[in-house]
Amino acid sequence: MDKELLAMLVCPLCKGKLRYDREAQELHCLYDGLAYPIRDGIPVMLPEEARQLDVDEKLPTSPGRMGGA
Ligand SMILES: [Zn+2]
Repeated sequence: MDKELLAMLVCPLCKGKLRYDREAQELHCLYDGLAYPIRDGIPVMLPEEARQLDVDEKLPTSPGRMGGA
């Protein structure tokens, strides 16, 4: 996946940066705890298509939920 494209992508919910999971082919929003799928190299930035991340998939260093998000 293109690094420049990745840098442009933000979570549609919180507008936060996403973490690219190369093995899972997903983009993770650690703030919302959602994983957006990448299909055929194309990120699907739809909350209804995203899956919930498991707790242990979230970074312990996560700054936590931003109020109201
Ligand atoms: Zn988010």
